[in-house]
Amino acid sequence: MNIILFGAPGAGKGTQANFLINEFDLIQISTGDMLREAVKLKTELGKQVETIMANGDLVPDKIIFSLISDRLNKEDIKKGFIFDGFPRNLKQAQKLDEIINDMNIKLDFVFHIDVDEEILTSRIENRAKQEKITRKDDTSSILIERLKVFNRETKPVLEYYSNKKILNVIDGMGTIEEVSLNISMIIKKDFKVD
Ligand code: AMP
Repeated sequence: MNIILFGAPGAGKGTQANFLINEFDLIQISTGDMLREAVKLKTELGKQVETIMANGDLVPDKIIFSLISDRLNKEDIKKGFIFDGFPRNLKQAQKLDEIINDMNIKLDFVFHIDVDEEILTSRIENRAKQEKITRKDDTSSILIERLKVFNRETKPVLEYYSNKKILNVIDGMGTIEEVSLNISMIIKKDFKVD
């Protein structure tokens, strides 16, 4: 089973990705984690993307395509995977279709964890106010910028999957458990899981 998880920054995407990985024994493919690792290790790639990420902008598609193609070449993805943070724009969605068509695999579910934008903004501000800021891009002004990028670049991708009839919009305003339950109910309805 292969899944894409969408959510604006602050929507709880990471938390739900972790839930799904454990519940359905999937591999997580997070382009954000891969890029953060490269920055931490100060690789050539890391140096190229550090400022872009710190500003909350999108890393160039070429870099993302190469990360994704390499990752999908590994054997473990046969278990089923969940994309977290990819695709982020229409070009990436189209490229993903090409790649998986070539590999003879398909996407089973696309989930959008939908959160009210005003509430999201206040969540973002609260989160940034909390002392323990663990991510460089986790300050309120950058998060607001990331929200703008999400609206401008990533929202059209939702329409792309809606037209393909594989988009499920999940109310992201409930508790973490409620959101998880809603997602797993949809999966279990369509997919026989042990
Ligand atoms: P995330 O952890 O998914 O929120 O990603 C953190 C940052 O990494 C983003 O704000 C972007 O700068 C970059 N990034 C992650 N995934 C992508 C992607 N698919 N396309 C472009 N940039 C990305």
